[in-house]
Formats: sequence, C-alpha cells, structure tokens
Amino acid sequence: MDFAYTPHEETFRQELRTWLAANPPAGYDPETFLYLDQEARFVIQLSWQKQLYRAGWVGIHWPKAYGGRGATVMEQTIYRQEMVRARMPEVANFMGIRIAGPTLIHWGTEEQKRRYIPTILNGEEIWCQGYSEPGAGSDIASLQTRAVEEGDHFVIAGQKVWTSYAQYARYCLLLARTDPTAPKHKGISCFIVDMQTPGITVRPLRQINGDTEFNEVFFDNVHVPKANLIGEKNQGWQVTLTTLMFERVTFDVLSPVEAVIEQLIEVVKVGTPGALAVHVDTSERQQEARFYTELQAIKYSSLRQLTRQLQGNPPGPESSLVKLAASELNMRVVQFATALLGQTGQVVSKSEPGIDGGYWMHCALSTHLYTIAGGTSEIQRTILGERVLNLPKG
Ligand SMILES: Cc1cc2nc3c(=O)[nH]c(=O)nc-3n(C[C@H](O)[C@H](O)[C@H](O)COP(=O)(O)OP(=O)(O)OC[C@H]3O[C@@H](n4cnc5c(N)ncnc54)[C@H](O)[C@@H]3O)c2cc1C
Repeated sequence: MDFAYTPHEETFRQELRTWLAANPPAGYDPETFLYLDQEARFVIQLSWQKQLYRAGWVGIHWPKAYGGRGATVMEQTIYRQEMVRARMPEVANFMGIRIAGPTLIHWGTEEQKRRYIPTILNGEEIWCQGYSEPGAGSDIASLQTRAVEEGDHFVIAGQKVWTSYAQYARYCLLLARTDPTAPKHKGISCFIVDMQTPGITVRPLRQINGDTEFNEVFFDNVHVPKANLIGEKNQGWQVTLTTLMFERVTFDVLSPVEAVIEQLIEVVKVGTPGALAVHVDTSERQQEARFYTELQAIKYSSLRQLTRQLQGNPPGPESSLVKLAASELNMRVVQFATALLGQTGQVVSKSEPGIDGGYWMHCALSTHLYTIAGGTSEIQRTILGERVLNLPKG
C-alpha cells in the first residue's frame, strides 16, 4: 500500500479543512454538546446537515447523478479524518445518508429515486431502519413482521425494536415477511413505509446514558402501497445484503476510539481543569502508550480493508477484525479513563461540575453500543473463526 496522499487528495483535504474552519455548525460547541438534551442536539444536527448540504458536503460517497459528491474511497476516508479532527457532530439524517439512500440508488425505481433521494440529502425527510425485532437481531432472517398483499397495497403487522431515530423519521426502510411458507431468507420483502400512516406507534426507549436514540415501533395493520416495495416481492434478502454492505463500510467504529484516545492523551499530558485528583504516573503513561499502539495496529488493518475497496473488492473479513478490535479497545480505554479521572469523571452530562462537558461519563455509559450495533462482538468472532482461521463450525 502507498501511504502517501496524492496532490489531488491533499487539495480535497485542504478544501474541506478550510471550509470547516470558516463554517462551524451553528450553535455547536463540542465542549458543551453533550450537556444538551437529545432534542436540542437533533436541532443542531439538522441545521448542520442543511449547512453541509448547501455547500455540497453531504452524501459525498453518493454518485453525482443523485446529488452526491461522487467522492473516491480515499476522499471518504479523508472526509472522516477531518470530521473527527475538527470534532464535528453527526448529521441528523445519518440513516438516510448511510443506508436508505444508497439502497434506493441501487434497488429503487426511477420514480422512487426522484421522490426520496433529494429530501434524504437535504435533511427534510429523516429515515430510520426497521430491521431488528425482539426475536431477530443477529439472525435478522428470522424476522416475524408480516406483510400481506391486499389489492393495491400490503398490510403490515408486527414489531420492530432498536429503531434509531424513528421518533424523528418520516420514512422507514422496513423488512417484513411476505411468504411465511418459503425458507426464511427467501420470503422477505423490503418496503418504504411512511411513518405517518395510521396504525404505527413509536415508543422511545430510555437508555442508561439518558438518551432515547432508539425505539420500539409497532405496526398494527398498516397499509403500504405496492409502489413502495423496493426490488421485487420476496427479494428483500438481496436488498438487505446491499444495505448491510453499506452499513459495514459506513458504520464508523474507528472514529470514536480515535477521539477517546486523543482526549485521554490530553488528560495525561496536561490534566483536566475541574478534576479533583488525576494522578498520572509512569504506569498510567505506559498504559496510554499501549492503547495508542493498539490503535495504530487497528488503523493499519483498516487500511488493508481500504486497499480491498480501492481494488474494487467487497469488504472482507478485515472489517470484522477492525469492528471487533476497535469497539473492544474503546471499552477498555473508557474503563481506564473512568478509574483515572475519579469522582469528577463520573459526573453525568447536564450536571455541574463535570469535566470535558460530561464527555467521560457519557462515554462510559455509551461505550457498549459499539460492541452491539452493526453486529455483536460474538458474531464478529464467529466470522473471524470461520473465515480467517478456518476453524470448524461450532
Ligand atoms: C445503538 C444501537 C442502534 C441500533 N440501531 C438499529 C436500527 O436503527 N435499526 C435496526 O434494525 N437495528 C438497530 N440496532 C440493532 C442491532 O443491529 C442489534 O442489536 C444487533 O444486530 C444484535 O441483535 P440483538 O440485539 O437482537 O441481539 P441477539 O441477536 O439477540 O444476541 C443476544 C446475544 O447473543 C449473542 N449471539 C447471538 N447469536 C449468536 C451466535 N450465533 N453465536 C454466538 N453468540 C450469539 C449476541 O452476540 C449477543 O451477545 C441497533 C443497535 C444498537 C446497539
């Protein structure tokens, strides 16, 4: 692999860096962002998406024909690096940008693309992903939500869970079973569901960190027009494989751990104003160095993944390696930081006197999500055991 960036890539980086410096998100301060409640953060994220959109910085990996920037894989990597470096917030319609939009571009009819793509990009219509169910997460093909054909529509009944941002969403990319007699992967279809249709109930789930990012969503005989089918009836599994491929590539586990290690280095180097007692001696510094070294190893593995992409290959088992190692490292770093920072590190956001805007406690309460979302650590270990180490199936 060539580790140097081309002049063109450096120009791209500089252009983005300059733009970010001149156009910070309105009302956003990384030091206090986590003190805000979720609604206030959502307002900032939405206005940030619109701001980025106006300047052509949303959907950068989407084809230009659909309003994206047509960025190369390397430019996407640089984009991610710069967003982390500048501590920028996530856009409000992250599910639409990362998952629903690319799925529609790949599988949607021309009419569906014309109708939904522009408002995904500009943030006017938020999307959520209705795949997981109480009995179908790791094994998504076991889903039980039914869609029965009736005249010119389907009638959907069942329950989804973990549906991120469903409370803000206008549309849901939904999987439902359309042929209960077929083998489980073959009887599934994918739908665009208008969340304002009668019969839909969204119940936010309060998480330990105080947020209600995800929801339970109930479908009580919800009528969905046939025109809202994505792909053919019973072709939902193929559509899902495309979606999950985008999710694997765009679900970013590296940025959070990079950010947390950077923050910890600052604490170890200069201390944290407001901390009651941060005692840093040789052993803490050595531990920090070990974390940093591990991070470099993971970053180089992620570059192997990048090389595959650059060569036009689908994501390989390296993505499982990076997902597993980065999310587990994140958890260990946060546990170490919590012990190091003592009492003031444990002050939750929105309380005073916290340190680093309540960052550390928010991290401590949120770190597990990375080991679950996008495929649990156990599932990643199974993939690595079977596909990399060629171990016998358990
Ligand atoms: C923050 C967050 C946001 C999410 N957002 C969404 C969303 O917007 N839309 C959506 O559809 N889903 C979403 N998810 C759901 C996510 O995809 C699932 O949580 C994940 O796939 C695991 O499924 P599950 O929770 O049902 O756990 P299960 O699959 O029930 O697993 C329970 C436990 O058993 C283990 N296990 C399961 N199968 C095996 C096996 N074969 N071998 C070994 N161990 C196994 C798992 O590792 C886990 O520890 C989100 C999750 C999180 C954490």
